[in-house]
Amino acid sequence: MQASDLGDDLQKVLIDEEMIAAKVREMAAAISRDYADRPLLLVGVLKGAVMIMADLARELSIPVEMDWMAVSSYGSGTKSSGVVRILKDLDRDITGKHVLVVEDILDSGLTLSWLLRNLRSRGPASVEVCTFLRKPDAVKVEVPTRYLGFDIPNEFVVGYGLDYAQKYRNLRVVGTLAPHVYGG
Ligand code: IMP
Ligand code: MG
Repeated sequence: MQASDLGDDLQKVLIDEEMIAAKVREMAAAISRDYADRPLLLVGVLKGAVMIMADLARELSIPVEMDWMAVSSYGSGTKSSGVVRILKDLDRDITGKHVLVVEDILDSGLTLSWLLRNLRSRGPASVEVCTFLRKPDAVKVEVPTRYLGFDIPNEFVVGYGLDYAQKYRNLRVVGTLAPHVYGG
């Protein structure tokens, strides 16, 4: 979906396709360089990270393995509940592996800090974080972000994998929704 397909449901485009593509290339170059001599396992966090994972992985110049986890921290609203549940775990053992967690967005950081503790307890060789977006509140928590796409304002955004009530993930850009979409 293009921004124009949303009509007046879309309030503002924050990050367009060209910005996304350029940033993904930049992040992929850094990751390819850093993991040139270490086998890498990308762990995507479903469902939001699907787009960044697919684009990032294809821009890498090194071979990687890919696995997925699904965790729940949000209901259908726009606030983090703080309660994290594993809905789908990794398919494999990560003992001794170099793991790079790929996330769509770091907001309160609750989800990711919980996930990092969980993954580190499994004895990987290393665990790093790559997040496409980061909101201001994320700086308050101890989530070391090795690879970052964009810092964005404290607004609820959709597109490029990010949803509101499971919709808008297939929007090509990142943007904010008009208030009427939230029924307000
Ligand atoms: P955190 O636990 O508050 O860091 O939230 C992490 C998760 O909340 C992300 O992986 C997203 O799935 C979701 N999330 C946070 N902010 C937004 C947003 O602005 N739009 C859509 N989803 C969001
Ligand atoms: Mg997510």
